[in-house]
Amino acid sequence: MPALAAVIPQAPAYDLVIRNGRVADGTGNPAFRADVAVRAGRIAAVGRVTETGFHELDASGCIVAPGFIDVHTHAEAIVRLPLAENFIRQGVTSLVLGNCGSSELDMAAFFGEIERIGVAPNVASLIGHNTVRSKAMGGSFNRPPTAEELAEMKRLVEQAMRDGAVGLSTGLIYQPGVFAQTEEIVELARVAAALDGIYTSHMRSEGDAIVDALNEVFRIAREARIRCEVSHIKLSGNNNWGRAAEILALIEKARSEGLDITQDQYAYTASSTGLSQLVPQWAREGGSDAYAARLADEAARKRMADEMRAALARRHKDTYDWVTIAACPSDASLNGTTVPEAAKRRRGSDSLDDQIALILELQRSNDTAGIFHGIGEADLRTFMAHPNTMFGADAGVREFGKDMPHPRGYGNHARILGRYVRELGVLRLEDAIRKMTSLPASTFRLQDRGVIRVGAWADIAVFDPAKVTDRATYDEPHQYAVGMRCVIVNGVPVVRDDAITGAKPGRALRHNH
Ligand SMILES: [Zn+2]
Repeated sequence: MPALAAVIPQAPAYDLVIRNGRVADGTGNPAFRADVAVRAGRIAAVGRVTETGFHELDASGCIVAPGFIDVHTHAEAIVRLPLAENFIRQGVTSLVLGNCGSSELDMAAFFGEIERIGVAPNVASLIGHNTVRSKAMGGSFNRPPTAEELAEMKRLVEQAMRDGAVGLSTGLIYQPGVFAQTEEIVELARVAAALDGIYTSHMRSEGDAIVDALNEVFRIAREARIRCEVSHIKLSGNNNWGRAAEILALIEKARSEGLDITQDQYAYTASSTGLSQLVPQWAREGGSDAYAARLADEAARKRMADEMRAALARRHKDTYDWVTIAACPSDASLNGTTVPEAAKRRRGSDSLDDQIALILELQRSNDTAGIFHGIGEADLRTFMAHPNTMFGADAGVREFGKDMPHPRGYGNHARILGRYVRELGVLRLEDAIRKMTSLPASTFRLQDRGVIRVGAWADIAVFDPAKVTDRATYDEPHQYAVGMRCVIVNGVPVVRDDAITGAKPGRALRHNH
C-alpha cells in the first residue's frame, strides 16, 4: 500500500469542461465524440479531457457547436436591451449590425458604449451607406454627390473602418441610398476594400429587376476589388418564383470569374420592412412635408394609386391581403391586421381603393412596419442548400411582447436546425452549422471564432438536435426558441437549459484590431 499522502486540493485545470457531447466543429466535417475544455475565455482542449473544470457540463445527447454568428441584424438597440435574449436563446453568440445601409455613424463611440454597458453576445458592425449619405449630403438627395460631399462620405467610411467596422453596407431600396448611382458606391467600396472590408447589399431589386441588381453587385465587386455579400437573398413576388437556380447560377458564374460573392438568408417566406415600400419612391422623396403636399395634389395622388395598382398587378394580385401590419405607432390597434382588415376597421371598407387610401394615409408618419408574404418556399430551400449561403435573421433586439414583429427575430437559427435540418432534411446538420459559424466568421473576418479548436474564443452552443426548434409564429411572435442546453460567449454561459443567466460577456468585435 502506498503511504498516505496529505490531500492537497488541486485547483481545477479548466474553468469549464463540457463532457460527452458530439462536437460539430464548424468545418462541416462529421460530428465526433469529444470533451471540450475552456480556460480564460478560450478553448483549451478538445478530445478526452481527464482533468477537471471548475464547472462541468454533461452534454450527453447534445451537439457541441461553435456559437452561431448572425451576419444580418439590425440590433442597434442592444445598447438598450443588452441581453439580446431573442438571439442568444437560439445559440447566437455574435451579431453583425449595420445592415441594409443603416448603422451607427460614430463606430468608436458605439463600440465604447458596448464595452461600457456590457452585452451578452459579441457585436460587430458594418458602416451604412445611407447613414454616411444622409450625413454628408444635407437635405437634398435625389442627385449625385458633389465632389466635396463624396470626399466627406469617403472620409466617414474610412473613419468607421479604422474604428473597427467590418465593411460597408447598402440598402438600395431605401432613401437616400436609392438615389445613388453605382459609381458613388464603387468609390466608397474602394475605401472599405483598402481596409479589408466586405461590401454587403440589400440590392435595388429582389424581384422583377433582380438580374440588373445582381449585375450591379458584380460590377462593384470587380471595380472596387471587394468581396461582396448579397443580403437576405430571395425572390419577391410570385411572378418571380422558381428562379432561384437561375440566380445562383449567375452568382456561380461571377465566382468562376474571380469575384468573391456570398449570400445570406432568413428561413421564412415573408419579409418585413417599412410599409412605405408599397408607396412609390418619387412620392416619398424629400421627407414628410413634401409627401403631404403631393398627397394633397389630386393628380399626384392619382398617379401614386395607379402605380400601386400596377405594382400589384405585376404580382398577379388585386388585394393587399398578403401584407400584415407589424407595428403602427400611430394606431397600435392595427398591429397584426392585414391591410384589408385595417382598411375595413379604419375606413369601413376593404375595397382596393380603401386599402390604397389607408396605405397612403399611414405613410404620412412614415413609421409603420409591415410583414410581406411574398417568397416561395421552393426558392427558399434552393437558396438554403447552396454552400455559400449563411444566415441572418434581419431582425433587431426584440422587446418581449411589443408589437407584432416578424417571428424571424426569435426563431431564425433554431428554425433552420429544427425545420430545415431535422424535419425536412434540406441540409446536413454539420453543413448548417458550418454556415452559421466558420463560413460567416471567415467571410466577415471575425478572428478566432466560428470553430471549435484549441485557441479559438469559447463561443459555444450546446443543444439537443432532437429538440431544438423555433416557436415564434406570425400570430404569436413573442416566443423564444428552445433546445439550448447551454450557450457560452467568451467562456461564460449566457443561457442554461433555455433560461438566460444574465451574464454579459460579449465583446465589441473591432475589425483589424
Ligand atoms: Zn434589408
